[in-house]
Amino acid sequence: MARVFNFSAGPATLPQEVLEEAAGEMLDWRGAGMSVMEMSHRSAEFDLVAESAEADLRELLSIPSNYKILFMQGGAQAENAIVPLNMMRGESGADYVDTGAWSMKSIAEARRYGTVNVVASGAADGYTRIPRQDEWRPGADAAYLHICSNETIGGLEYHWTPQTGDVPLVADMSSHLLSRPLDVSKYGLIYAGAQKNIGMAGLTLVIVRDDLIGHAHPLCPSAFDYKIVADNDSMFNTPPTYAMYIAGLVFKWLKKMPAESGRPDLSPLAAIEARNIQKAALVYDCLDASHFYSTQVAQQDRSRMNVTFRLADEKLTASFVAEANARGLKGLKGHKLIGGIRASIYNAMPLEGVEALVATMREFEKTRA
Ligand code: PMP
Repeated sequence: MARVFNFSAGPATLPQEVLEEAAGEMLDWRGAGMSVMEMSHRSAEFDLVAESAEADLRELLSIPSNYKILFMQGGAQAENAIVPLNMMRGESGADYVDTGAWSMKSIAEARRYGTVNVVASGAADGYTRIPRQDEWRPGADAAYLHICSNETIGGLEYHWTPQTGDVPLVADMSSHLLSRPLDVSKYGLIYAGAQKNIGMAGLTLVIVRDDLIGHAHPLCPSAFDYKIVADNDSMFNTPPTYAMYIAGLVFKWLKKMPAESGRPDLSPLAAIEARNIQKAALVYDCLDASHFYSTQVAQQDRSRMNVTFRLADEKLTASFVAEANARGLKGLKGHKLIGGIRASIYNAMPLEGVEALVATMREFEKTRA
């Protein structure tokens, strides 16, 4: 069996250990005589799967007890509508920060449900940096303030937490949740599609402070009303059971990270963060040392998860991707909106994958520069 290094932005690479465990349990989950995929979501067996996934997530992120964890469907783009439907809470509008493609999608969707005040935009700088908070112009009666804390397409990441006072901070963390420690109490609501750092597509995680739920718009579908979902322990409708199971295996894998990386003194998320910093530095150091490659993203806002860069001679981009593909490095072609190259190096991307990428970059530069 030859596994490639998959740099795809999502669905993305998963820990091999998790895949092997799922394979081993595929036909018979721990003596149940059936796959998790076939189990009733109301069975005692599946309760164990769901409860341990929730407990492990709560532990990993130290989620305070006044926050609900919701296992939903629809992906982050559905959440772009579900958030305003639940979070406007009688206000007519909300504040949004525009840092690129995914914030723009959130803004466009929210406009269908209320007034959107764009408090700051990176558009004037070509989305190469995140506007600092002292440049933001918040509205007067915003129901919440929305950010995309890691722009998967542009490759920008907040390395700081906005201070929004009494206005709940809402963050689309799809592409970096669980990649670093996080103070959940600074947020009113966090959401993330699972297919990057959490597991497989089909599951959307929502972490929401409990005083913010129970105010959904009357036209909000029941299955998307946070209160109904919370009151039914995410089982108002059938949840994405297998995706929850896979996420649960990923959480267990993360919990082993301190021991595995020889840093038992660190929390799991601090341990994975240390690895992520090391991996990202390898690629950015290579970019900074070269005139052949360059990244447009301002140093302080560079994403550790999605490294975007260009070749000085854009005509060589396709050959670079082909060369990398031939070496088993897949999914490096940049998003069609911005082109260039994007290396998504989520938690599950091994250091060896990043080393292989950097070696390929150096060799390609040597032969083509
Ligand atoms: N937000 C961000 C930051 C994303 O990276 C993505 C997916 N790439 C989405 C939203 C959309 O997610 P989905 O396709 O699950 O709706």
